[in-house]
Amino acid sequence: MNTKTKLIVITGASSGFGLELAKEFAKDGYPLLLLARRVEKMEALHLPNTICKKVDVRDKEAFEAAVREAEEQYGKADLLINNAGVMLLGDLSTQDSNEWKTMLDINVMGVMNGMQIVMNDMKERESGTIINVSSIAGVQAFGNHAAYCASKFGVIGLTRTVRGELSPYNVRVLSILPGAVSTELLSHTTDQGIIDGYNTWKEEVGAVNITANDVAKTIKFTYELPQGVSLREIIITDTKQDA
Ligand code: NDP
Repeated sequence: MNTKTKLIVITGASSGFGLELAKEFAKDGYPLLLLARRVEKMEALHLPNTICKKVDVRDKEAFEAAVREAEEQYGKADLLINNAGVMLLGDLSTQDSNEWKTMLDINVMGVMNGMQIVMNDMKERESGTIINVSSIAGVQAFGNHAAYCASKFGVIGLTRTVRGELSPYNVRVLSILPGAVSTELLSHTTDQGIIDGYNTWKEEVGAVNITANDVAKTIKFTYELPQGVSLREIIITDTKQDA
């Protein structure tokens, strides 16, 4: 096992991409700070050199406290992966506006919270990486995705802008835009008809072969490129996904 010493912070590490990221980085011995609301799922991984904290990314104070505590132990965060997110699909004409707010607060404000917590130290050190998980729905429209698209397009705009702010300081600000991958993400949508339609589409297209682990390995590869190499935006989908 390689032993890496730089602290990596992963939000949304209790399932899906985040959980696979935690496992992949732990294989190389990186110290980790894992954040999500279901802390027991992260603790159950029993990863070495790992702090797990129950943090809602909307709570900036708690988010920052967790990062500072991990930094006391492992040194400044070298990588933040803003992965936590929710997808509540709905037709804009009928969807409850509380669902829009939940998505914008978690998917956009949560990412902004994370960026502000680590970016000034990175700027000062002239090193570090922030990777924001957007979506192919951050550059493309999909039916029933209006508010989700608003949040993920938001992440792209945010990432591109902050990249401009931090690139003079040698800090990388990247985004990854996955297509459909089977995780828990769809399960929070409250409209069963939309869930059924999405699953039917996946079966018809056959676009279910790409895994959360494939996405995690791609993110890890991107981070492990030299600091002077910025793989700015990666769209990663199942080969059979045509939209
Ligand atoms: P999952 O639902 O499996 O994982 C989402 C993670 O985010 C969970 O660990 C969840 O933890 C966490 N999370 C959600 N809300 C909060 C919150 N308020 N505070 C802290 N953590 C939170 O989905 P994925 O792994 O698929 O999603 C990860 C990211 O990838 C999301 O940003 C999603 O939008 C994006 N994405 C996913 C795609 C897919 O097809 N799967 C495609 C494109 C992008 P907990 O509930 O314990 O807090």
